[in-house]
Amino acid sequence: MKRNRLIRQTYQIKSLSDTKILSIKYRYFVGLVVLSVIGFFLAYSSSSDTQNNTSQSRNLNLPNLAIKNTPASSHRSLIDSPSPPKTSAPRLNSISGKKLKSIEDNRQEVVTGLEAARASFLAWDKVTVKSGDNLSLIFPRVGLNARDVYLVTQIDKKAIAPLLNLKPGQLIHFGTLMQKDGTLSLEALKVALNPIEAFHVRKVNEVYYAETIKLEVDLIQKQITGKIDSSLFEAGLIAGLTDKVVMEMAHIFGWDIDFALDLRKGDHFKLILNEAFIDGNKVDDGNILAADFTNRGKTFRAIRFVDSRGLGRYYSPEGDSMRKTFNRTPVPLSRISSRFNPNRKHPILKTNRPHRGVDYAAKKGTPILATGDGKIDFIGTKGGYGRTVILSHGGKYTTLYAHMSRYKKGIRSGKRVKQGQTIGYIGSSGLATGPHLHYEFRVNGTHRNPLTVKLPKAEPLPKKYHVQFKAQATPLITQLDIPVNTSLAQSR
Ligand SMILES: [Zn+2]
Repeated sequence: MKRNRLIRQTYQIKSLSDTKILSIKYRYFVGLVVLSVIGFFLAYSSSSDTQNNTSQSRNLNLPNLAIKNTPASSHRSLIDSPSPPKTSAPRLNSISGKKLKSIEDNRQEVVTGLEAARASFLAWDKVTVKSGDNLSLIFPRVGLNARDVYLVTQIDKKAIAPLLNLKPGQLIHFGTLMQKDGTLSLEALKVALNPIEAFHVRKVNEVYYAETIKLEVDLIQKQITGKIDSSLFEAGLIAGLTDKVVMEMAHIFGWDIDFALDLRKGDHFKLILNEAFIDGNKVDDGNILAADFTNRGKTFRAIRFVDSRGLGRYYSPEGDSMRKTFNRTPVPLSRISSRFNPNRKHPILKTNRPHRGVDYAAKKGTPILATGDGKIDFIGTKGGYGRTVILSHGGKYTTLYAHMSRYKKGIRSGKRVKQGQTIGYIGSSGLATGPHLHYEFRVNGTHRNPLTVKLPKAEPLPKKYHVQFKAQATPLITQLDIPVNTSLAQSR
């Protein structure tokens, strides 16, 4: 049963403290006792009183729905609304039919029982969000009015963000109750946000609460191997990888392997992925947990580690960062049209002119990315270089980017840039035969070949994580070490 696979992720309430939540629960409990008494009273006092309005008689029945030790199956039938929306109701935590241990559990059971019972009377209606829609336009379509919109928008703005940022095509499910005076009141609202999350608004004790519900995801480790025949993407496709995973793999090993240049037929890879499933359906590729990539006989290995800030990074089994302080190439989607060559003849000047950089040919306007964190030392026209940017990276390294068609907006001398940040666009300003980037890499003022210069490594894994990293990495390494033909295709 799909709908029961929900757990609560966040419980964002308009700054309600736990004690307040408790007191609400407690009020419910007391309310239920009072309602029980009234219920018994009414039931025994008069059978002629059949003109009770429906909502009241429903309320009066509620306490009986929440009696302890009710079999789980009957609880379920109460949880499920007569026409449940696709986004479905959350699994109400303590409704399991298990024996109750404490009064707190008991209260919880009563409260959730009440909610469930109330939910079972709701009429469900759905609306598809149209372009230009807002809540004031949408609510009237299910018979709700401006007051309902007002009350819902009184919930904490952050908590109802999904409702304030609706996109065309999204489905909103409305659970409403008919009031005595014939008007509808909004009791619940649900919006599916993505395959694993849903946004819910519920009314409890005349107060609206919003929360984002996360479906329970099964993470299943999967090992995938592949061999390069013509391209990385083709190899990925054959191995059953999505483009996203192939890109991630290229990103992890991109510091050591130039995938546009170094890749050879027969290169191979092995990945351990954490695929996400909900009820047996894959909903996400998950992260690459560990990977080997063998390029021209040399194997690179990367292990993912998530630090206490939740930042996931890849390290070698020794804890060295897979990242370098410099990217090898400033234009990822390009081809090298001229290499570093101290004895080259200049293509235009026809004189013996060393080529002290690498040329990357790409379409005019292709973004040029800073290869490392740094500061803009120079921006302007520089003779044959045309529109040029020079970055300094600490005291030792400088990089130069020439022949730009234009600079990135906001790039100014003295400004700091981040690795991978766009600084300008491919062009053919200055002396250039066609649109390309001329890229130079200098170490202590000396030109070095950007394709072969030994690049400094990024910060290694901090010492405080070493024990944790080793514990996580060891089983993954063991798995990577198993030869491909005898390893299991899939393991949990
Ligand atoms: Zn050049």
